[in-house]
Order: sequence, then C-alpha cells, then structure tokens
Amino acid sequence: MILELHEKIKSKKISALDLIKHALKSIRSHQKENNAYISILDHHAELKAKQCDEWLSVKGNLPNYLHGIPFSLKDLFITKGIRTTAGSAHLANYIPPYDGHVSEKLQSSQAVLVGKTGCDEFGMGSTNENTPFGAVSLPGHPQHVAGGSSGGSAASVAEGSSIFSIGTDTGGSVRLPASFCGLVGFKPSYGVVSRYGQIAYASSLDQSSPLAIDVSDIAVVMEELSKSDPRDATQVYQSKHSWVDVIKQQTGKKGLQGKTIGFHPALWNSCDPEVQEVGASWMKHFQSMGIELVEIPMPSFEHAVATYYLVAPAEASANLARYDGVVYGYRTPKTPNLESLFVKSRSESLGEEVKRRILIGTFALSSGYSEDYFAKASKVRRLIWNDFKNAFQKCDFYFTPVCASTAFLKRQFNKIPMDPLKDYMNDIFTIPVNLAGVPAIALPTGVSSQGLPLGMQLIGPTFSDQELLAFARNLELELPIDHGAKNHWKDFL
Ligand code: GLN
Repeated sequence: MILELHEKIKSKKISALDLIKHALKSIRSHQKENNAYISILDHHAELKAKQCDEWLSVKGNLPNYLHGIPFSLKDLFITKGIRTTAGSAHLANYIPPYDGHVSEKLQSSQAVLVGKTGCDEFGMGSTNENTPFGAVSLPGHPQHVAGGSSGGSAASVAEGSSIFSIGTDTGGSVRLPASFCGLVGFKPSYGVVSRYGQIAYASSLDQSSPLAIDVSDIAVVMEELSKSDPRDATQVYQSKHSWVDVIKQQTGKKGLQGKTIGFHPALWNSCDPEVQEVGASWMKHFQSMGIELVEIPMPSFEHAVATYYLVAPAEASANLARYDGVVYGYRTPKTPNLESLFVKSRSESLGEEVKRRILIGTFALSSGYSEDYFAKASKVRRLIWNDFKNAFQKCDFYFTPVCASTAFLKRQFNKIPMDPLKDYMNDIFTIPVNLAGVPAIALPTGVSSQGLPLGMQLIGPTFSDQELLAFARNLELELPIDHGAKNHWKDFL
C-alpha cells in the first residue's frame, strides 16, 4: 500500500498534508474508545507534512518511499523532545534529549510521526492492561483487548490512524497484537535492527518490529530499520538485497512451489477449534500450491515459557535498576536518606507486574540460585535453538498458530481475576522464536465466527528475513488474506 501512496504523492494526486489530516481525524474519532495513543503529536505532524509537500514542490522528486507517510511508534522508543513513557508512571514526564535509531531513521526518511502508542509497562504483558495509561481496545470490539504489549501500535494501524507502526517484540509483543487486530507483524532475526534508543526490557530478546497492513509495507519499512548503526554492537546483519526489491520480484505461485513447510499437530491440538480449522485450511492451501508439508516435532517448546520467564525477568531486573529516581524519571518527594530515595522512588512508580518480574529476576540471578535457575534456563535456550536448527535442515519455514485463541476479553469489564501464570502461557507459540533469535511473521487469515481477527505464524532460519518476507508476500498474493484496515485509506488509493 505504501508504494501505491508514494506514487500518488510523487505525482501530486494526493498531498502528504491530506494524508496526515486524515490520520489525525481518525485519531480524534477513535482515541476515546480505543485509547491507542499515549501522546498525540498533531502540531508536529501537520508541520512535518507541510515540509514534505514543500520539499516535493521545490526539489521535484521524493527521496524516500516513506516520505509523507503517517506512522506511530510504541512509547518505548526514545524520541528527541517528545515525551517517552515506556507505559510507566516512572517515566510519565520524561522528555529524551536524543533520538534512538528507529526514530532517527524513520524521521530522516520523512515519514511523519503522528503519535506515541500505548503499551504494557516496559513491554511486560500480552494484553496492554499492565499500564497506568489504560488498556487499549481492539478496534470495533470495545470489550476486547488489542493484545500486548504493543497493543497501541496495532490498534493505531487497525483503526486507520497510522499506516504502519513500530513495536518491540521480546516474546511476541508485535506478533500477538498483529494477530488480534488482523495485521501483519514481523519480528526480524535478533541483530537485524539496532536497539539503540529502544528502552530495554530483556536485551538478548528485544527486537524492534514493524506492524503494517500488508507484507509489502513491512518490507518498505525494514529498508530503513535495518540500516546499520555503529551504536549497537549486536546489530550484525547486513542486508543482501534491497528489501523493496525483494518484494517487487513477486512471483506468486512460482515463488511458493517446491518449498517445504514444517508443522506439528501437537502444537495445534490445544488451540481453540477455530484456530485449528484455519490452520488446517491454510495447510490444504499450501499443498494445493505445490508446497510440501512435513511433520517435525519441537520437543523443547514445552519448556520455552518456563525458560523465557527466567531469562526475561533476569535481564529486566538488571535493565530496570537504572530507574532509581536519581538521574531521570520519578523521584519521591520526601525522603530522609539515599537508600529510601531509591526504594520509595521505585516502589511508588513501578507497577505490580514490573515489580513481580524484578523480584523473579533478582532471585534467579542471586548467588546460590543462579546456577539452578538462570544458568539452567540458558542451557534450555540452547536446546530450543537446536530444535530450530534441526527443523530447518528439513524445511524452509515452520508454521504455527500465533495464539491459541482470538483476542481476550478485557479483565476490568468482565471481572476476570488477575492470573499471571495463565497470561504467561499465552506466549507459548511466540516465545521460542525470541529465545532462538530467529525471524517470524504473523499473517492475518480473516475473522472468526464472532468477527474477531485471527493470525498464523511462519518462522524462518536465522537471517532468512528477506526470504521469509518474499515467501509471505507470495502467499499474501495467492491466499484469501483479509486486509480490512486498507479500507481506511481507500480515498487515497
Ligand atoms: N508477553 C511477553 C511478556 O510479557 C512478551 C512481551 C514482549 O514481547 N515485549 O514478557
């Protein structure tokens, strides 16, 4: 869709300002119900859009496909001069003095930032309910959550107030909300996108990840995100080709024939019947398109949730030590000494789930226990990686659900008690991907009998990101994929 809009802007059939005005109007009409945004940047966005249009008039050309395209950022990305809260009361008034990699690359490509979106505090959650800024609703379904932790990002695209959004995926936080909202969500291999200026949750798992309406838009955005950045030593990937060229060489069925997809019935049996049905019908489509299906067990998957909920809190407990009320963030007003300044500043501003994870993580790393917990989890992590390595010797990509169900009901309205363990289990299909560092894409498949969107996941080998996107793009051209959110922009297409 972005490539089509780009042609229209270039030939002056539409203006960047028209697009941005449309996005801002959509924010105004949906914010109350969906609560997708923590900060809305209307003045900033209009000014940027005018600058985009002026650029085109003066220079007569467009430097980038993203020129004038409205987008949103999860409020976990550092933005210079723009409040960045991480969905936490601790950073409710924090205005960063610098731009992180993602903000810098997208804004210098002249994409127009319309707002910072809601998320679970520091990215910890799957429902967007763990935040003092309030849950985000699934657009059109106010009783349901948009998913988390990048729920605001997904809702912003699904409600039609941004054309793409960048979230972060540590254990599924982009793929899950993409699936709940009927969008495409792409988690690149670890090391493809710089994490500089992405507020850290679990550094060995975190990856900036785009959400968009179709696979082609994901590729356009990845062109910018994957640019190299010497400020993050873990960004090691060099793109082999232009991401947009990969998508432009669409071959439809031809690009699918002869490929092999791995799957395993054990991963589907526990899912809701409708998720199983859609999975089965996709597998039939695969076969009819000349794709071979092979059954490949993933024995270590059953340990993935336990492993993740040791590794991620351990890393989080170290990363969140910096929020002590001294340099930035919330500081308790009255305090007799330094120790109580630390304790009270943290106790008064961090949420329940964040505290739970700091406690688990500190325990898992503590002397006397770290060998039993953290070290053991790191070993199991290697087994998960081995499962993927073995699987990809027999197949090109691996097919799983994103989640066992469609979007969850909101806890608050439905008097659903807090049950952290149950919440953690929802991540069973997405977490192994982050533990192994491999790329994965959530693709929309249509809606359930209740009208709730559903998604499926394809996983690829490490650094097969471009091949995975090319395959997903060809699938998208061949399968009856519902891109409902595109309708919001129909007047511009
Ligand atoms: N639900 C997972 C968690 O709470 C994943 C979060 C994420 O990917 N940021 O840790």
